[in-house]
Amino acid sequence: LPVVVIAGRPNVGKSTLFNRLAGRRYAIVNDQPGVTRDRKSVEIILRDRSVSLVDTAGWEEDDPQTVFGRMRKSSESAVASADVVVFCVDARSGITPVDEHFAQWLRKQGKPIILAVNKAEGHAGDIAALEMYSFGLGEPYPVSAEHGQGVGDLIEAVLDALPNEDDEIFEDFEDDNVDRPLKLAIVGRPNAGKSTLVNQLLGEQRVITGPEAGLTRDSISVFLCDEEGEVELVDTAGLRRKARIDETLEKMSVSASLEALKMAEVVVLVIDAELGVHEQDLQIARLIEREGRCCVLALNKWDILEDREAVRQKIKDRIEISLTQMNGIAVVSFSALTGRGVHKLLPAVRRAYAIWNKRVPTGALNRWFEEAITRHNPPMVEGRRLKIRYITQIKGRPPTFVLFGTRTSKIPMDYQRYLVNGLRATFDMPGTPIRLQFRDSK
Ligand code: GDP
Repeated sequence: LPVVVIAGRPNVGKSTLFNRLAGRRYAIVNDQPGVTRDRKSVEIILRDRSVSLVDTAGWEEDDPQTVFGRMRKSSESAVASADVVVFCVDARSGITPVDEHFAQWLRKQGKPIILAVNKAEGHAGDIAALEMYSFGLGEPYPVSAEHGQGVGDLIEAVLDALPNEDDEIFEDFEDDNVDRPLKLAIVGRPNAGKSTLVNQLLGEQRVITGPEAGLTRDSISVFLCDEEGEVELVDTAGLRRKARIDETLEKMSVSASLEALKMAEVVVLVIDAELGVHEQDLQIARLIEREGRCCVLALNKWDILEDREAVRQKIKDRIEISLTQMNGIAVVSFSALTGRGVHKLLPAVRRAYAIWNKRVPTGALNRWFEEAITRHNPPMVEGRRLKIRYITQIKGRPPTFVLFGTRTSKIPMDYQRYLVNGLRATFDMPGTPIRLQFRDSK
């Protein structure tokens, strides 16, 4: 999250401004210097962006002679982490030497600075605000944190000074995988046609690298290449794993699949379309979901099917009913034996991979969230309504969201499902696991 730091000398109203922006009483405010002891930080939404708002304090009790030194000391780390600094001064007292000194230091920190001239009720602050131009920090924003005046313009200025949302996305999701081939596992029950499929893929594609040294013998990777780039097929040797004596063939298909999918990012679940969905297929699908991998459903042996559309629908329904997280899963049908339709597989894999990596822009996410909780309020539990205040995506692979509120551990599964389905539909994330986490904010 971008960090907004409120800084300034004691008693200019930083905590009141902090509370005003946070919309709630987080810090204890008092006219006496020295009331705010610790640095406070809350995550808030400014208009439609989540930011972390930091109040610098903790030095108010100190000897006024050393105020600047203390200010600097307590603000240093906060300002260093800031994306924007709101420098707060007092319209009533005008510019003091401490303000001046602090402004000088602040300018050297190279952060965008918004000058908030507080205690500017009515027009009392207009003249003071003019004086504040002499800081050379650009336009002063007269506000009354106490009465809420001018706060809208201040927020606007802060939002303008924040780093671009797209840059932020880029930072948050720093992709160390850009030059790495996507890791793909092919799993399924024995005789579904996995090996035939791999051979078909290898026959169509040029094999760039053979078995990789350094990998265990059971997890040999093969690299495929098409116009879009490379794909690493993990655990091809696992396809041929023989059941141990104490393992039935069915058990083996599940445990071998688990090993393979742990190494993968995208998992192709091959189903013998002629036989339809078996309990083992569902077991494997559940593992894929549990491990948070993205999945493409591959319906094989299409060549020997009669009523293709009906079969396709039946299989898709069966998977989706058993696994809500697989809603909208990509389905590709082909004949691994003849090769017909196999070319559709890698593009579907890449699409699923992109969804799995998806980052929802914060602004759009919060707009959706407001609407979603208004349309369906979080339920009452033990006589009180649960509150969820805001949502933020903390990562992709799979898309993972954190919701902040109170008593969030009580949020029932069906309400969670409602939110997940809404996210899935609104932000176009079919077929990928979506994770929610909950945190109680104070
Ligand atoms: P694996 O155990 O999943 O690796 O399955 P195999 O690739 O060994 O295939 C099992 C059997 O199904 C073999 O006899 C294949 O020839 C056959 N098979 C695989 N794919 C197809 C297909 O698309 N159509 C038909 N008719 N048979 C297939």
